[in-house]
Amino acid sequence: MLKTRVKVMAAPNRYIIGPGAVKELGRRKMLLGKKAFVLGGTRSIESVEKEMKEDFQEHGIELVHMEKGVRYCTAREINRLADMARAKQADFIVGVGGGSIMDLAKAVASAEYGIGKPIALINTIPSTDAPCSALSVQYDEKHVVEKVLFYYRSPDIVIVPTDKTVQAPAKWLVAGMGDALATRFEAEACAESRSGNALIDGGLPPFTATRLAQLCYETLINYGYHAKLANERQAITEAYENVAQANTLLSGLGFESGGLGAAHGIHDGLTAAPGRMKAPKPEHGDLVAIGTIAQLIMENRPKALIEEVINFCLTVGLPVTLEEIGATFDDLPHCMAITCNPNHPYAHNEPFPMTVDRCVDALKAVDALGRAYRDKFMRR
Ligand SMILES: [Zn+2]
Repeated sequence: MLKTRVKVMAAPNRYIIGPGAVKELGRRKMLLGKKAFVLGGTRSIESVEKEMKEDFQEHGIELVHMEKGVRYCTAREINRLADMARAKQADFIVGVGGGSIMDLAKAVASAEYGIGKPIALINTIPSTDAPCSALSVQYDEKHVVEKVLFYYRSPDIVIVPTDKTVQAPAKWLVAGMGDALATRFEAEACAESRSGNALIDGGLPPFTATRLAQLCYETLINYGYHAKLANERQAITEAYENVAQANTLLSGLGFESGGLGAAHGIHDGLTAAPGRMKAPKPEHGDLVAIGTIAQLIMENRPKALIEEVINFCLTVGLPVTLEEIGATFDDLPHCMAITCNPNHPYAHNEPFPMTVDRCVDALKAVDALGRAYRDKFMRR
């Protein structure tokens, strides 16, 4: 429980979504500067490169360096790219890609861990809510969660070019839905336990943030399945764009100002399951979906709600069993000790004590329910 009565809300300075949005950057250079340092995944950068260069040229922005092929947000990568951006005297950083690139680019631009310059994010894979928040999850070299880096500055510009995102396989949109699925329940847990939100200078969650988190969940339930189907045909529909917004914006605002809870805490623990790196490697949202169901079980939510969440997962293709995320019952005590570490920044934001036993039992129950509902779902 937080002692303060102050409520704090944060948001990116600009959020732009729609087809052709890559070319929305240059005319906002007042927010950024004249010298751009671009980093991202090879394919992501290549998908926007032509339009981005045209846009830069049109608005007199100099591209001082373009670093392709970066992938993970690790301490080594942050330092390497920050040194490079400093040497190139970049005015601002542009990150192009999915969640880990968003996190990496924010760290490189940040005053706390990088060069202290503005940041523009072009999110080509709407697979997490990383674009809109002022924090990054730093992984170690084995891709286990190492720590969370918090920043005072929210992203200056977030661009979600739906003509690009819709080209990405639907599995990424689905992973984003897994991440966004937790937002409502974590925000509600924080509101109930009077826990602080996920901002470095945070306070209590304003009710605006809790309500946005609830809208995020409604959006997934109403549009999630149709959005996935549209994505499979590379069709930009309102349902598709609504879910892309839920994944990136609503989930981002909802978790950051509304607060995180057990679902992401369980995610962090599950990243240490040794089987997780085997193919098909589960994504952030896959682990969060499992964490969400576990949280609902621990909170003893009504059966109808738990069923709605499990059926949603089955309908869009999110995991509902431990097997699907490469975890076994034997991994759970070790993994949940990470979650329940007293220093964990948000796992304890629940209205009850988070203990290893409670988490392990909840995950065993997730697996049992997941198997039972999957069998029912298959027979339909
Ligand atoms: Zn997340």
